[in-house]
Amino acid sequence: MTRLVVATRNPGKVREIREILADAPNWEVVGLDDLGIPESPEEDDVEAYETFEENALAKARWFAAKTGALALADDSGLCVDALDGRPGVRSRRFAPVDEARGERQDEANNRHLLALLAGVPDERRTARYVCAAAAAWPDGRELVRTGTCEGVILPAPRGTGGFGYDPLFYIEDEGQTFGELPAERKNARSHRGRAVRALVQALSAVNKKGAIT
Ligand code: IMP
Repeated sequence: MTRLVVATRNPGKVREIREILADAPNWEVVGLDDLGIPESPEEDDVEAYETFEENALAKARWFAAKTGALALADDSGLCVDALDGRPGVRSRRFAPVDEARGERQDEANNRHLLALLAGVPDERRTARYVCAAAAAWPDGRELVRTGTCEGVILPAPRGTGGFGYDPLFYIEDEGQTFGELPAERKNARSHRGRAVRALVQALSAVNKKGAIT
């Protein structure tokens, strides 16, 4: 078994990454909480880049150095076509700060998104989730893989599952939002599911050959 640290503070991401990795044998999956790594204010400054890949790699490197183990980080977000790709890498703090408090951040983000899209017709409400999943070893080796998932932003939330923008993110061929779909359906087709499965496949190849591809 190789230890793999899920290097994120977002409980929704931790839950999904654990579920996605449940099928992958040979990995001992541990969280930052399991290791007792306290949250530090500098963590927020680590993801200072303009791309998901750079941010994911920066977070993975940071936590590989902190834990001395192979670390897996996720940088993800929602890119809305009618907003020229926003909120993108700024998805977590999309709503103005004074509206957003603690666990109410997601709701504030959703309200902000709906306000910006008010009056935008259905056919122009297309969007995609993007996830970059990065792995970093303490010795400096690293890997990154991305995944995307296409959807449409509804005018009102539906469902209470998932997290973040999920109640607004409608998957046309499922006829449901990510807030309505069962977790395993979301993981099967989500940006995170695709990125993490691709990363784990690449990691397993490294484990076998000792080389990075
Ligand atoms: P990060 O922690 O900087 O990667 O920010 C990710 C943000 O993107 C989250 O806080 C959510 O707002 C949004 N996001 C990413 N993935 C998802 C998802 O699977 N569902 C809902 N929102 C997501």
